[in-house]
Amino acid sequence: MKKAPKGAFSKVKIRVTHYTEGLLVVLSAPSGGGKSTLVRELMRRTSRVRYSISVTTRAPRKGEKGGEDYHFITEMEFKKMKSSHRLLEHACVHGNWYGTPRDAVEKDLKRGHDVLLDIDVQGGTAVKRLYPKSVLVFIAPPSLAVLEKRLRDRAQDHESAIRRRLQNAIHEIKEAHRYDYLILNDTVKNAVDQLETILASEKLRTDRSRATIDALLQNGIVRKGDRSHHD
Ligand code: 5GP
Repeated sequence: MKKAPKGAFSKVKIRVTHYTEGLLVVLSAPSGGGKSTLVRELMRRTSRVRYSISVTTRAPRKGEKGGEDYHFITEMEFKKMKSSHRLLEHACVHGNWYGTPRDAVEKDLKRGHDVLLDIDVQGGTAVKRLYPKSVLVFIAPPSLAVLEKRLRDRAQDHESAIRRRLQNAIHEIKEAHRYDYLILNDTVKNAVDQLETILASEKLRTDRSRATIDALLQNGIVRKGDRSHHD
């Protein structure tokens, strides 16, 4: 058999690894859509993902911990954060204020982590405007009846709040077309598998890999430090 001709890079030991930047991922779902279970399962499966802890003026529910589920703050503190531009986006949802702290998200993205934002559709659209490369995933319940059952089973809200959340759900589902992807949350396993597939495919996009391509052209090889961040 003929030997392959020796080219300019023949002495380079090729170990091809495709490095890409951290993704900013927005997950939105009507409340009771099972989002927090999906987030927990995704974080269990992968160590690269960071969850952005929002600030909110709403009172903690039973079992919720400040600094884990939310940073629970006063309206005054919220206003201060907003006016000093420390919120990447904010919205009033179900009569309470919610916002995404800017610093933590930007730091994690720079370190190459994927950052998950569990925010409503107003927030999602604002994030897309600010970060056109963010990935917007809408999690829909398999049926409205299932959504209502989930809201009642968790027994966290009064009847009037449940009704308001159901009305809001219809409004949010109407906005789902603004999102990049739709996942039907029938089982946790299926939904998280689909979420992982979305993240994996998004990372292979050429528009996220400019630094990787440049490194390959300049050095003939892609090394660990050449990984793409936000190009
Ligand atoms: P809950 O009070 O049930 O935890 O959340 C109510 C809604 O507020 C959910 O749709 C949730 O995704 C949304 N939300 C939570 N944090 C934020 C945030 O920082 N920004 C925005 N825009 N929505 C948020």
